[in-house]
Amino acid sequence: MIEWFKRLFGIGTNSTNSYKKMVNLILFGPPGSGKGTQAAKLVDKYGFLHISTGDLFRYEMGNDTPLGLEAKSFIEKGELVPDSITIGMLKNKVQANPDVKGYIFDGFPRTIDQSKALDQLMESLDQKIDKLIALSVKDEEIISRILERGKTSGRADDNDESIIRNRINVYNENTRQVYDYYDKKGVSSSVDGLGTIDEIFTRLTDVIDQV
Ligand code: ADP
Repeated sequence: MIEWFKRLFGIGTNSTNSYKKMVNLILFGPPGSGKGTQAAKLVDKYGFLHISTGDLFRYEMGNDTPLGLEAKSFIEKGELVPDSITIGMLKNKVQANPDVKGYIFDGFPRTIDQSKALDQLMESLDQKIDKLIALSVKDEEIISRILERGKTSGRADDNDESIIRNRINVYNENTRQVYDYYDKKGVSSSVDGLGTIDEIFTRLTDVIDQV
């Protein structure tokens, strides 16, 4: 009763997020696993805010901002942009959008340090990561999908097989561990990323609806 009263009148809140139940997801998986496609459908269904660090970097690069120029040299080689740049950019985006139903993080975190920074950020907002869902897709399928996407994406990093292979290596060496990091917290799960867009979407919503 008291909690209900507090909620109704916003009493005892020290930030706009206190007492607000949000659902915060990490959509995880290798490059080309379909995260962007599925995130757009999840936004339609649940009204979450989709935050893709890849999209944020492409926006900065498209506008030739100092951040964009700095990120470009790494992205063009298929390397990770340093955490110092990436974490700051992500924090700004989250802090600028506190009043949402939840966040879908896509392409972030990609390192353990990014995971720790994300957890701290969530904690500062009285929030947590509710679920990490990995889309599982084999390397050879990924390469052919990205090369296909490269025909129309205009992304330099999608057109060269050696850059794509480097992105996959970076994923296997640095990013995969993020799955285990959240698995230890009991929130990681994995779904098959092969099938039609709708089939994969249903697999994702089945997991999300259990949160
Ligand atoms: P994909 O998952 O298809 O490789 P993204 O659009 O998520 O592509 O990211 C494109 C590139 O942007 C990455 O290869 C990397 O260079 C950079 N990038 C995106 N997110 C991060 C991140 N969290 N940390 C470091 N670099 C990142």
